[in-house]
Amino acid sequence: MHKWVYQFGDGRAEGAAEMRDLLGGKGANLAEMSSLGLPVPPGFTVSTEVCSHYYGNGKCFPGSLQQQVEDALARIAELTGRQFGDDANPLLMSVRSGARSSMPGMMDTVLNLGLNDNSVETIARQSGDARFAYDSYRRFIQMYGDVVMGLDHHAFEEILENFKNRAGYVLDTDLTADDWKQIVSDYKHLVERELETPFPQDPKDQLWGGIGAVFQSWMAPRAITYRAINNIPSDWGTAVNVQAMVFGNMGRNSATGVAFTRNPSTGEKALYGEFLINAQGEDVVAGIRTPQNLTEAARLEAGTQEPSLEAEMPEAFAEFCTICNQLEAHYSDMQDLEFTIQEGKLWMLQTRSGKRTTKAALKIATEMAAEGLISRNEAVLRIEPAALDQLLHPTIDPAAKRNILTKGLPASPGAASGGIVFTSDDAQDAKAQGRNVILVRVETSPEDIHGMHAAEGILTARGGMTSHAAVVARGMGKPCVSGASSIRIDLRNETLSVAGKVFQRGDVITVDGTSGQVLEGEIAMLQPELSEDFATLMQWADEARTMAVRTNAETPADARMALSFGAEGIGLCRTEHMFFDGSRIMAMREMILAEDAAGRRQALDKLLPMQTADFTELFDIMRGKPVTIRLLDPPLHEFLPQSEADMEDVAKALGLPMDKVRQRTRALHEFNPMLGHRGCRLAVSYPEIADMQARAIFEAAIEAAQKTGAPVTPEIMVPLVSVKPEFDLIKARIDAVAEMVMKERNIQISYQVGTMVELPRAALQAHRIAETAEFFSFGTNDLTQTTFGISRDDAASFLGTYTAQGLIQQDPFVSLDQDGVGELVRIGTERGRATRPNIKLGICGEHGGDPASISFCQSIGLDYISCSPYRVPIARLAAAQAALRQEK
Ligand code: PEP
Ligand code: MG
Repeated sequence: MHKWVYQFGDGRAEGAAEMRDLLGGKGANLAEMSSLGLPVPPGFTVSTEVCSHYYGNGKCFPGSLQQQVEDALARIAELTGRQFGDDANPLLMSVRSGARSSMPGMMDTVLNLGLNDNSVETIARQSGDARFAYDSYRRFIQMYGDVVMGLDHHAFEEILENFKNRAGYVLDTDLTADDWKQIVSDYKHLVERELETPFPQDPKDQLWGGIGAVFQSWMAPRAITYRAINNIPSDWGTAVNVQAMVFGNMGRNSATGVAFTRNPSTGEKALYGEFLINAQGEDVVAGIRTPQNLTEAARLEAGTQEPSLEAEMPEAFAEFCTICNQLEAHYSDMQDLEFTIQEGKLWMLQTRSGKRTTKAALKIATEMAAEGLISRNEAVLRIEPAALDQLLHPTIDPAAKRNILTKGLPASPGAASGGIVFTSDDAQDAKAQGRNVILVRVETSPEDIHGMHAAEGILTARGGMTSHAAVVARGMGKPCVSGASSIRIDLRNETLSVAGKVFQRGDVITVDGTSGQVLEGEIAMLQPELSEDFATLMQWADEARTMAVRTNAETPADARMALSFGAEGIGLCRTEHMFFDGSRIMAMREMILAEDAAGRRQALDKLLPMQTADFTELFDIMRGKPVTIRLLDPPLHEFLPQSEADMEDVAKALGLPMDKVRQRTRALHEFNPMLGHRGCRLAVSYPEIADMQARAIFEAAIEAAQKTGAPVTPEIMVPLVSVKPEFDLIKARIDAVAEMVMKERNIQISYQVGTMVELPRAALQAHRIAETAEFFSFGTNDLTQTTFGISRDDAASFLGTYTAQGLIQQDPFVSLDQDGVGELVRIGTERGRATRPNIKLGICGEHGGDPASISFCQSIGLDYISCSPYRVPIARLAAAQAALRQEK
C-alpha cells in the first residue's frame, strides 16, 4: 500500500529533514525535531503526493488515505491519552499547510479542530477554565468558517467588535466565559444564516474539511501570485500537518511566541523574537496586541516595561535557549522558530532556516564560518547573489533635512520615496505607468503581494516585526515601516493623516525601513557603504571563482563605480555613448551629413581629440586592467535630429540648407534598423570612422602608459561580424593605424583585435573567424534577438504573454536561453578554441549579470563575464557559486 501519511512524536518520526519534497518544509522539520527528542506535540503529515493526487483526480483523496489517517490518530490518542472525536475526552488538533519552499502566510491554518458544543463543555470542566474553552471554540468557528467554509472573517470580527462596544470592553481579555459563550452562539448563527447549514459538529468532518481546505488553498489566487513571483512550480503541491493542539492561552503561565536564533535584520548573534502571554500563535503575527521581547537585553534596548520571557518564565526560557542552540548547530544555519508554553511546559511547533536581510545573511555566513559551523565555501554558497541588490539600495543622506512625520517599526531596511497609494491594485497600475509609489495599508495580507511587489516601499499602521508586511518586505528586499500606529488612513477619501497633516493619494512621502521613520516629501539618498562582512565574503568568493568579472562601462564614473565593486577590467566600452553629449553630437552629425570621405574626415578630426581624451581617462582609471573598446555600433540615424525644430538647429549650426538635413535624415531611415546599416557594416562603408577610433585608442594607450608607467594593452572589438572577410578588412585598417601611430610616436605597444559574436552565423563560423580574431565576446543581446527573430525593442509587448502561458520559462533577454542561444554560444566557444586554443572568451550581453546565465558561462568554460557596474558584486558571487557547484 502506498504511504501517504508520515507520523511523528514522542522522540520518533517516520520522516526526516531531507524529505522536504515529500513532507514540505514544516513537516520535514517537525519530524526531524521529533527524532532529535525535542518536545514536539505528536502529529502526522499528509504528503505532497496527496496534493498531486487530489488535483490529478478531480479533487479526490486516494482510497487508502482515510485508514492511514485513522491509524495516525490512534497513535496520537495513545501518546496523549485523549481521543479525537470523543466528546468525553477530547483531543484537539491543528491543521497547517507546509509546502516544500516556505510561502509565509500564503496558505491556511485551522486551530482547535475537534471542538463542538459537547467537547467544549468537557474542555471547560477539565481545564477548570470555561473562559479558555469558549475563547478557543469561538476562534475555531471563526478560522474554520473563514478558511474551510469561505465566510469573510470581517463578518466574525464585526460581531465581536459590536459586542465589545455594547459591553464597554476594550480588550479581548475583558470578555468573560459567558461573553464568549454568547459570541460562539452568534458565530454559529452567522454560519447558519449565511450558508444555510449548521456549523459542523463531527470532528472527523471537521478534519477532512480542514485537510481539503489546505489543498484548496494551494490554488488560491494569492498562492498562485506568490509562486509566480518566487518561481515556485505549481506541481510541487503542499503537505498538510495535523498535530495535537497545545495551548498558549491557558492562563498567565501559558504563552506563545516566535524567535530567530540570530537577529534577522542585522545578523547579530543574539536570540531575537517576541511572545505573548496567554495567547495563541495567530495573535503574535496578527499584530493586534503588542508582543513582548524574549530577552532582558532586548527589552532594555527597546526601553519597555513589559517583562521579557527571560524574566517571566525563566525555566521555559532556559530550555528554549538550549533548544535554539541545538537546532542552530544541527542545521548549521540560523533558525526561525515557533513555540508555545502550556502551563509552564515548552512545546516546539516549528523550525526552519530563517529568512533574513542580505546584510544579516552576510554577517551570519561569515560569523558561522569563523565559528567553524560551516566552511568558507559553504558561506559563499549561502548568499543569494541577486539579494546583494539589497546592499546597493540607497539610504537617506544623513545631511538631508528630514521632516519626520512619525515613527513605526524598522521592519525592512533601506529607504524609498514615492507617491502614496492605498491599494495594491493602485500600486500595480502606478508601476505599469512608471511611477514610484509607497503602499500605505492598515496592515498587509497575502492579498497585497502584487502591490508590495510593485511598490518602492511599504508603510503599515498595524503589525509587529514578524507581521506579514515585515516578513514579506524583508524577503523582497523592500523598505518597510510597520506598526506606525499614529497614522490614520481614510480609505474612502483616500487620505493619510499624520502629525496634524493630511496627505492625499499621490502626495510624496519617504519611508526609512532602517530607522522606522516616515518622512514628508522626497529626500536625498546616499549610496550604501558595503560592510566588512560583505568584503570578507566577496574575498572568499573571489578565491573560489575561476572566471574573471569585468564591467560594461564607458563613462569615468561608471568605470570607477565598477572598480569599487571589484571589476577586473572593462569587457565592453560602447563608444557610441560617448558621442551623445554636448558639443560632440554636433561633430558627429557633421560627420554623418558630410558629402564624402573628405568631409567625414574633417568632422572626425574634431572628434579625435575628444575620443582620445575619453580613452586616456578610462585607461588611466583602469590602471593596466584589460579594457575592451568596441568600434561604433548603432545605426547612424540614431544620432540625427528627429523633429523639424531640431533639424533647423542642426542646419543652422552646420551652415547647411534645411533640405539637405531633411533629405539625409530620410535617406538614413531604415525599416529594421537593428538588422540594418550598423555594427561593422558602418566601418565597411565608412572606414574613416574606424580609423579615427583606432587612432584615438592607440594614442590614448600610449599616453596613459606614459602617465601611469603601467603598460596598457587595448582590446579593440569589432561588432556584429557575420563573415570573416568583413572582420579581416577592418582588422587590416586597425593594424595599419597601429603601425602608423607607433611609428609617429616611436614606441611599440601590444594590442589585440577581436570580435563580438552576436550573430548566429558568426557562432557557426567561429573556427574561421578565430583564424584572425584574437578574442571573442559573446553579445548575447543581439544573439538572442537574431536567434529568436524577436526584436529587442519590441519584445516587451508580447513576451509577457509567452511567459504567463509558460510557452517560455523566462524572458530570454533577461536570462540566457540555454537550449537555443546558449547552444550557439557553446558552438562558438568550441569552434573558436579548435582553431585558437588560447583565444580569450567572454560575454558582454545583459546575461553577464544574471546568476543562472553566469552558471552556464562557467559550464562551457568562458574566461570572463562582463556586466553593468551595479551587478559586478552579483556576478562575482554567482561566478564563485558556479565554480563551487561545478567542483562538487
Ligand atoms: C550585445 O548585443 O549583447 C551587446 C553587448 O551589444 P549591444 O547591447 O550594445 O548591442
Ligand atoms: Mg550587440
